Amino acid sequence: SSSKSHLLQTWYRSNQPRNMIENRMFEEEPDVVDLAKESTTFPTSQALDPDDVVYEPRSSRLLVRGLGENDMDEDDEDCESSARLLGMSFMNRSGAHRSLSSPYTRQGAPRSCARPSARTLVVCMLFLVIVASMTMVLYFLPGCTFTRSGCPKTNTTIPFEKVYPVSTSGEVFPWAQLRLPRSIRPLSYDLTLNPDLDSMTFTGRTIIHMSVLHNTKCIVLHSAYLNITKATFKARGVTVLEYKPREQIAVAFTEVLKTGQDCVLTLEYSANLSHTYDGFYNSSYTEKDGSKRVLAATQFEPLSARKAFPCFDAPDFKATFLIRIRRKPNHLSLSNMPKAKTTQLPNDVIEDEFEKTSVNMSTYLVAFIVANFTHISRNVSETQVSVYSVPEKWEHTDYALDTGCKLLEFYNGFFEINYPLKKLDLVAIPDFLAGAMENWGLITFRETSLLVGKQSSNLEKQVVASVIAHELAHQWFGNLVTMRWWNDLWLNEGFATYMQYMSLQTVFPQLDIGNLFLAVRFRALDKDALNSSHAVSTEVNKPEQVEEMFDSVSYEKGASILLMLNASLPGDQQFRKGIIQYLKEFSGLNTDTNDLWNSLTQVSAQHPNVSEMMSSWTSQKGFPLVTVSRKGGQVTLTQEHFRLTSDNATQTSSLWIIPVTYVTDNCSVAPECRRTFYLKTKSGKTQKSVKWVKVNYRNTGFYITHYEDGGWAALIDALSHNVSVLTHEDRASLVHNMFALSRLGRVSFHQVLHLLKYMSNETHTSPVTEALLQLGVIYRLLDKRQEHRLVARMKSYILHQFGSLMDKQTWEEEDSVSKQELRSALLGMACSLNEEKCISQSRALFKQYVESNGTSRIPGDLQQVVFTVAAQSNEDWATLLTMYGQATYDAEKRKMLRGLASTQDARLIVWVLKAGLRGDVIQTQELPLVISTVCNGFTGYLFVWDFIQENWDSLIEKFPVGSFAIQTIIKSATSHFSTQAHLDQVQGFFYSLRERGSQMRSVQEALETIRLNQRWMEKNLATLEKWL
Ligand SMILES: [Zn+2]
Repeated sequence: SSSKSHLLQTWYRSNQPRNMIENRMFEEEPDVVDLAKESTTFPTSQALDPDDVVYEPRSSRLLVRGLGENDMDEDDEDCESSARLLGMSFMNRSGAHRSLSSPYTRQGAPRSCARPSARTLVVCMLFLVIVASMTMVLYFLPGCTFTRSGCPKTNTTIPFEKVYPVSTSGEVFPWAQLRLPRSIRPLSYDLTLNPDLDSMTFTGRTIIHMSVLHNTKCIVLHSAYLNITKATFKARGVTVLEYKPREQIAVAFTEVLKTGQDCVLTLEYSANLSHTYDGFYNSSYTEKDGSKRVLAATQFEPLSARKAFPCFDAPDFKATFLIRIRRKPNHLSLSNMPKAKTTQLPNDVIEDEFEKTSVNMSTYLVAFIVANFTHISRNVSETQVSVYSVPEKWEHTDYALDTGCKLLEFYNGFFEINYPLKKLDLVAIPDFLAGAMENWGLITFRETSLLVGKQSSNLEKQVVASVIAHELAHQWFGNLVTMRWWNDLWLNEGFATYMQYMSLQTVFPQLDIGNLFLAVRFRALDKDALNSSHAVSTEVNKPEQVEEMFDSVSYEKGASILLMLNASLPGDQQFRKGIIQYLKEFSGLNTDTNDLWNSLTQVSAQHPNVSEMMSSWTSQKGFPLVTVSRKGGQVTLTQEHFRLTSDNATQTSSLWIIPVTYVTDNCSVAPECRRTFYLKTKSGKTQKSVKWVKVNYRNTGFYITHYEDGGWAALIDALSHNVSVLTHEDRASLVHNMFALSRLGRVSFHQVLHLLKYMSNETHTSPVTEALLQLGVIYRLLDKRQEHRLVARMKSYILHQFGSLMDKQTWEEEDSVSKQELRSALLGMACSLNEEKCISQSRALFKQYVESNGTSRIPGDLQQVVFTVAAQSNEDWATLLTMYGQATYDAEKRKMLRGLASTQDARLIVWVLKAGLRGDVIQTQELPLVISTVCNGFTGYLFVWDFIQENWDSLIEKFPVGSFAIQTIIKSATSHFSTQAHLDQVQGFFYSLRERGSQMRSVQEALETIRLNQRWMEKNLATLEKWL
């Protein structure tokens, strides 16, 4: 179709890395794929030294990309994989041989290829030569580029041209790859920074001590938006070349720098403080008396250290840092290390010098802040823990200090390695985009992720405690042991996410984190079910791909598979032992995924190979659907890839090694009831003469289960007699899995409704919140399609099904987190459906709150419901806006903002969106939240779509392409669409963006989601008509 070819052309032009182009084309145009793959693979890289020679075609990059982008160090292209891509079947590789190297381990193939037989080698070479010459001939055909239709347009560029980029000064830049050369290794940095908060500029000096690892004639490092004013090497002035598109600078020498030599490069520079949320950025806030305060802070992960100082800005170029910051007397400065000395300089300038880092660290973990914050401190073991905030919020810092100290003690014990620095600062920054950032010794937070009011509910404390737990876990996972490259970001994020839930369960059981972790695993499954998902460990090169790794696959799927592994290991200490072994072995170093699995394999000898099992979960995208069928006493388990969008082109036989757990009607609740069955092949059998079997005990496994042959009916029957025959996690997982299977088309919506009947006896939080969430999604889709009759019936169905539970909820203060979660979900749903009692209760509470002038309190977990109801009246909306302007407690403020954004008044919606973009009344960091809230409502979702199209360039200036904020914005703005017209619009808009965003994975997710919504509606509207 025409949209397809348009799409292809866009991708040709958008300079995507090889694997992405291939995947995308594979999905869309199978005919072109083979050719493209051949073309990218044919030039074997052995003949080329990537440090010296780089070919880069000016057009049709697709063809020879393999040459330019291959990094010799990482390159695991080999003749087997080339052959596989070329479809060679004569490689002397029987199926049996191939299966020796696990399909999951990428290392397998190259080793086996190291000593190919002479015949293989000759045949292989011959074939490659033939393919190469054929491709060359085709390529040199006049005016031919490869497309499906042959030679559709003229191409006059000379294809093979040796191209080094041209630097800003017009001279040739001596390096042509995204990743830095490995010939130089930095040993230590000596940084002096001199920010001027009046002019919003800074100057700096960076002295880098380096070691030459391989003979080289140039030093290449990163620098972005820095104006280098002076460069010295061996006491002589040198010229610095800059190639801006890759944020690289280089010093070229006429003589070779010899291996083993140490050298020093000094760079002086000036720059503007960044006005976005990364690099060395400025921020301001207004105090109660109206005075404006400015501050400067840093956010470097993943690629922004280079915006503050020239550096080798990649995680495996670790070094030590000595940092000096100059400031005015009314400010203080903070950095990773404790302050060593303070010097008074002329003109009322003070220079703080911090101790040299006692550890080697990656550039993305460096941090410094200049501000007028206040702090509170306490000592834990050998570490001074402090919490910093703007002065007027200092009374909200107690909880964070207490929690930080407890968790630090816990981790010191758990990892059996003490936190290595003498201080640990937790700092609340008024302008901060991410939730928090784990800079070593200087963790930065959003105010909402660190500050807790005296009267805050446990639910609000849960948020703060889990963010602190996450960032503290990073001090080991990420800071002490760091992933080698961003492709394994999950080693940082999956682990920190897992540890955050694990540590909270142990240290703060009253915070009841279990429901949240369960819900998080469900959301990770939902996202990973999309064809546009990716493997946990996946190749990344370009900056926006690095940004995109910060997604739910790295965080939540990463955490989920660690839980699965831990649950499948015998005893509760094996997993911990493996982690300790890993941290000790690689302390101060960089690792990849296999290093972790190897450490865990070493400590769990009796267990089936951990490395083999876990690689099946990290190297392929998606997860399995396990189908349970029963014939007589025989239970058969079958696995297949759970894939919502099936594309025949990529039908691969994905297999996972699944630790399938199950319980039966004989014994179903206690942990001892659990049985484990390793499903390694397509299907497996076991004998069980039981009434019913429930697979995936407590939902610790990352898969979805379908029950055939009356299996569902038996479970539903059991539940309708007694809900307690299964744990609440098991009940919630039945609810989640049933909805997912309905989306897959494996069960009808009628069956979903059948399962939900048992809900009239359900009182536990997780099954109810999961059901409400899933029904809410369908309700909103129907609402937006204006299926008025069905909307009304859906509404009465929900109110009927959950009405008695809704009625039971109180509006007073409640201590239990689980009960808070339950009632905020129930009452949130009731009020959004305009249920009368809920609305009047909310209004009464709001009135009381306003009239009491701040003395009466709305319970924290109900504030959202109350503010949202209030915002529906224009008068109360205005009151809420005034309150929002005055509120100092940020968690509450955020709920007011969500209230404001939930208005259904079109003019107010436009105002809120614009204010969020401007950043005066509503901080720009809150815009993703504003957008997702507006999109939930009927009035707002079309406004948002227009807003995003009109303001795209301002948005990506604030939030980098690929960043989590942009992912959220795209997802919110498009996930409510379910019609062809909207699909076409979304597709048209994003493709028109080209390099400004068309290549993002979240765009693919958005399109796939709209198609799935469309398909679900087509399939189920009739069922809904019939059964609701
Ligand atoms: Zn993290």
